[in-house]
Amino acid sequence: MCNNILILRIFYLFKTTLNIIRFVIPLGLIIMITLDLYKNLIINKEDNEYVIVKKIGTKVFAAILIFCIPTLINLIFNLFSKMNIGSNTDASFLNCYQKVNLNLIKQLENEQELKLSEVEEEERKKALVTLQENEAKIKALQEENTKRNQSTSSNTSTYTNNTTDMNKQNKVYIKNGTFYAPSYKASNPNTYSGKDCPSGNPLNKGYNNKYGYNNYFWNLLQNFKTAIQKAGYNISYSSQGCRSYQLQVSYYKTMEKGRAAHPGRSNHEWGIASDVTFYKNASVKCGSNRTYKNCPGMKWAHEHAKEYGLTFPLINASYKEDWHLDPLKLKKY
Ligand SMILES: [Zn+2]
Repeated sequence: MCNNILILRIFYLFKTTLNIIRFVIPLGLIIMITLDLYKNLIINKEDNEYVIVKKIGTKVFAAILIFCIPTLINLIFNLFSKMNIGSNTDASFLNCYQKVNLNLIKQLENEQELKLSEVEEEERKKALVTLQENEAKIKALQEENTKRNQSTSSNTSTYTNNTTDMNKQNKVYIKNGTFYAPSYKASNPNTYSGKDCPSGNPLNKGYNNKYGYNNYFWNLLQNFKTAIQKAGYNISYSSQGCRSYQLQVSYYKTMEKGRAAHPGRSNHEWGIASDVTFYKNASVKCGSNRTYKNCPGMKWAHEHAKEYGLTFPLINASYKEDWHLDPLKLKKY
């Protein structure tokens, strides 16, 4: 109760008023007595002494009584609080009345202001933290958006702007972002894509560029690799960007049936497929027992390939090839 400023103020007001009454009224009475004496003794001389003494006596008695009232109230309060009569609340009520003074009120007011300013400060800090968090979120979203736009635009330009190489005869071409590749079923090696591939290791010689990849597909690979490196991982491509017809024949003959495509039908022969090696981080290759957990670079590559116009079509195939990369949009003609 002593912490309630309003109650303390009421107590203080009451106390002050009592103190004023205690002095002002007796003072007034003394002045009145003096005036009475002056009137009766000096001016009128009407009343007899007995009446005068009675009049003055009454006023003196009243003055003493009024002077004593606050003292009496204090005395009663003192008595009550010392006896600790009633509940604790009553006792603290009396204690508060006795203790109250201007300093106590001021002290309480200061404390309350301090508490308020502490609360305000805390709220301001919280608001600031929330603001900073939101700003960071917005910034991250903006960055992600910018990255996505950049990758999309670069992919689109790779796709749509390269509409040359429109010779459909035995060639891969791009139209409206889609790869078109011949779907030969015949077995005349001279009509296959592989005829352009050098025998043996095609590295540095190649079908359409130095790694033997189709130029458009090569651009997609490069964009993809850059993104993977930015994500903290890495990737390396097989050197067989363009696999020769003869090599496809030998794979077809020696590998388990269904594993290698029929010669003339493999995207590898057109330089539009790649077998890639995944990395755990920027420099360490994943082993053959790789999983998404121990090879996060593979997880990232599988999850993001589509954003770069590429796909891993054989992740869930019966002959699982989680490393085989094709163009996302591909049609055979
Ligand atoms: Zn492959």
